[in-house]
Amino acid sequence: MKEISNFRRGLMLVMSSPSGAGKSTLTRMLLSEDVQMKMSVSATTREPRPGEEDGEDYYFLSRKDFDNMIDNQGFLEHATVFENSYGTPRRPVEEALEDGLDIIFDIDWQGTQQLAQSPMNADLVTVFILPPSVLELENRLRNRAQDSEEIIQKRMAEAESEISHWAEYDYVLVNDDLQDTYKQLRNILHVERAKRFRQPKLMPFVRKLMNERKEKAEG
Ligand code: 5GP
Repeated sequence: MKEISNFRRGLMLVMSSPSGAGKSTLTRMLLSEDVQMKMSVSATTREPRPGEEDGEDYYFLSRKDFDNMIDNQGFLEHATVFENSYGTPRRPVEEALEDGLDIIFDIDWQGTQQLAQSPMNADLVTVFILPPSVLELENRLRNRAQDSEEIIQKRMAEAESEISHWAEYDYVLVNDDLQDTYKQLRNILHVERAKRFRQPKLMPFVRKLMNERKEKAEG
């Protein structure tokens, strides 16, 4: 089974949503269950929140280091969100794809547009997660209790701007029920993995299948 999955080129699963729509939880669920899936750890200039770890949640970079990485073509995409810069380091993504692993990205609509315009766009599968209601979204942000009131209000304004890009995505899920949304996400992944154009290395396996009867008849 593992051998067959290796015939496949990895895909890039982009998850975008306004903050608080459940994207991080869904991402964590997928990563904990799926050994073929790797997370793209972004770099950012924003300060770490309590509990966040460098190299795990983000690479927390100074403005200078972030700008150096831009100059050295170190990012696949980068954008400014909430007055901070965020970017996807290029090398780990390219390596994982070559290894036949899938990569999950938690990036905003600006980053998604940049990836869609890049030469890697064939590997891209984009999913937008909508909250069941905007009030529910605000509640979730408050319950998270990680941000000040001012930041929450700013995030709500950004949420509206993020939501306005929903129609640019391949798939859109309304996260009414977490388990249900997760099931739909898994289904999307299964179907996308099986697409023929993602399996260019399958030819030798198919040839072997075709020869099986012939070899049996001859033997
Ligand atoms: P947060 O500060 O809450 O972790 O993230 C804020 C926003 O930045 C989220 O919408 C998240 O998807 C987006 N984001 C995180 N990393 C990246 C990245 O590497 N590129 C882009 N374009 N957006 C990112």
